Amino acid sequence: MTVSTAAKPSAPTARHRYGEGALIVCDNLVRIYKVADLEVVALQGLDLLVDTGEIVAIVGASGSGKSTLLNILGGLDTPSAGRAIVAGHDLGQMGRRERTRYRRRVTGIVWQQTDRNLLPYLTAIENIELPMVLDGARNRGPRSRELLDLVGLADRAGHRPERLSGGEQQRVAIAVALANRPSVLLADEPTGELDSTTSAEVFGLLRRINAELGTTIVVVTHDALVSDQVSRTVSIRDGRTSTETVRRTERNDAGEHRVIAEEFAVLDRAGRLQLPRAHVETLSLKDRVRLRLEDDHVGVWPDQSRSGNDAKERS
Ligand code: ADP
Ligand code: MG
Repeated sequence: MTVSTAAKPSAPTARHRYGEGALIVCDNLVRIYKVADLEVVALQGLDLLVDTGEIVAIVGASGSGKSTLLNILGGLDTPSAGRAIVAGHDLGQMGRRERTRYRRRVTGIVWQQTDRNLLPYLTAIENIELPMVLDGARNRGPRSRELLDLVGLADRAGHRPERLSGGEQQRVAIAVALANRPSVLLADEPTGELDSTTSAEVFGLLRRINAELGTTIVVVTHDALVSDQVSRTVSIRDGRTSTETVRRTERNDAGEHRVIAEEFAVLDRAGRLQLPRAHVETLSLKDRVRLRLEDDHVGVWPDQSRSGNDAKERS
């Protein structure tokens, strides 16, 4: 992997090690949109690491920056500051030619809107061949049939999108995204317009692709059923990764498998962490908190002096 080695004078050595070996590295990623005189900070210092072969769900409220992140990872948008590196490509530094190649070969994207994924006047098989045509790939026929088979639609090769159901269209879209054997499959709420049964099928397909082809997958979703099925769910809040849920299967004494889900807060390299909103509200934490280092944990307390003053002010 060719990660930028240019030493920044202010950068401590740990900075170079951050994300070493990861397929996707987002390091203090910032994206600011300027609309007229206003600045919208869509990503404000987002850190994220994804290893090769992982399937990661990204969840978060509307407007939290999920699509902005995916657009950057897909090479469609560039960061305002910070670094994003995917499979050794520094997404903030790519020239036009590298960017085009990157978009064709390194990532495949599936959008929520089926009409954004497929060309309406091409058949399923022609849609799948298109990225290969653009990339000048050979063996397109066998490859596209293999992909159509993989997504379970071998009998729909000659159908245009309008003659496919919503779920079938998304499965073709997944085949299109995989056409040039990308390292990363990105999907932005791919099941957002589907009913729950169809959405479970489409998601099952993504998991199978991850398991069988080893393709790394980053999928944005609103669907808790979906996010429950992956080993790692990352929550984004206000343009930053806030918590991660990591799931693993354990076998109990009776030999039954059960899924253990543990929630973690994300600690950035400056030592900052975001407390879950529920914790903040339950303890009425505000402005500043008291911390105490214990043998094996750190305690966080409300600032009693402050809350006392508040109480006096209110009474
Ligand atoms: P999500 O996908 O989580 O709903 P987005 O990444 O689409 O969130 O948006 C994050 C924030 O950035 C929102 O406040 C949104 O209004 C703003 N935003 C997104 N795209 C643009 C754009 N092209 N121009 C201006 N603001 C944008
Ligand atoms: Mg979005």
